[in-house]
Amino acid sequence: MAEGHFISPLAAELADDVLERFLRYVRIDTQSAYGQATTPSTAKQLELSRLLEAELRELGLDDVQLDEFGYVYGSLPGVKGAPVIGLIAHVDTSPDVTGTGVTPGIHENYDGSRIVLSGDETQILDPQEQPALAEKIGHDLVTTDGTTLLGADDKAGVAEIMAAVAYLKRNPRPEHAPVRVCFTVDEEIGAGADHLDIGDFGAEYAYTLDGSGLGEIETETFNAWKVVVSIHGRSVHPGSAKGKLVSSIRLAADFVAALPRDRLSPETTDEREGFVHPTGINGTGEKTMVELIVRDHDKAKLDEHLAVIRRVVDEVGRKEPRALLEVVEQETYRNMREVIDRHPRVVAAAEEAIRRAGVEPVHSIIRGGTDGARLSARGLPTPNLFTGGQEYHSPREWASVQDMAAAAATVVELARVWAEG
Ligand SMILES: [Zn+2]
Repeated sequence: MAEGHFISPLAAELADDVLERFLRYVRIDTQSAYGQATTPSTAKQLELSRLLEAELRELGLDDVQLDEFGYVYGSLPGVKGAPVIGLIAHVDTSPDVTGTGVTPGIHENYDGSRIVLSGDETQILDPQEQPALAEKIGHDLVTTDGTTLLGADDKAGVAEIMAAVAYLKRNPRPEHAPVRVCFTVDEEIGAGADHLDIGDFGAEYAYTLDGSGLGEIETETFNAWKVVVSIHGRSVHPGSAKGKLVSSIRLAADFVAALPRDRLSPETTDEREGFVHPTGINGTGEKTMVELIVRDHDKAKLDEHLAVIRRVVDEVGRKEPRALLEVVEQETYRNMREVIDRHPRVVAAAEEAIRRAGVEPVHSIIRGGTDGARLSARGLPTPNLFTGGQEYHSPREWASVQDMAAAAATVVELARVWAEG
């Protein structure tokens, strides 16, 4: 089915299987949801988990298991003495855009023009706006019809891991390292690897396939903290409130207004600049809570951002001594670089595998987190690798078949590189 220019013979060989799996997986609605008490957050994710369990069994992997949380595991034995390598991707899609009725379409041998999506003509993929798209002339591109997301995040990663282990199972030579596969749920709501027991998983090093552009290796995430500012005022009947009422709502508004706006906000920062971002506010006259997220790649700078919040809280509190203001700070995840830097082999192996797949490695930083950030903090160094998908969490999401095949080839090469000692 897939033709066009493949980056290596291995990628060309893997392409049909990757594409076939990808098209099968994206049609299954696996949208996760915030605020649910269960894992997975939505039962529909289990439909893909069950399919993957069946497909791993069919491939003949060992220890295939679908656990109580909806995670799917499998093992592929490899050469003795080599470290066990973990391969991780998530089955869920973003709560931001519907994943019901995904209708993927293939644009073969892309000619570089604008792509108007068939189900919603206002949804246009424009190479002028998307430099990554302009680079894919000659590729076969998968898009949606414009009414849903595609789910390349992260079904491209799932399909690539599946195609790679299927290939390794069929082609045990050259030798490869033992591989452990894990497909998680609820990554998009920030709970991705919470139930992955690192001891049971048994991998020494792992990789998430949850990145984007061709050749990317990501070893750096934000440091992420959550802050809740609680403002206690004094509510009095407004008819007799003169000199008595202290409105927590007004104080909350003062607090938000006093936060930096032309800098240190997501809408004014890029690359390595961090931010303080109010994400929620709710309350009554008596008590108002403001929720914020704080992000920076650099922990020292992150601490400064936290201090900015405390300083603004102090200022607001000083102006209204009758109010009580409280700040609660909590770490969400940590930049995984501090762990990964202690294991240079995990990055070197990925670079070598990407080169062998015919691609030049590109190091990029994540302005966000990954499952790998939490796993790294818990002792399993887990960089993130490219999948070939683009424009995530949007109806304009697309993926290059050639880049997905290159990602699958990278996984095959990775298992082989780790067998070489
Ligand atoms: Zn993802």
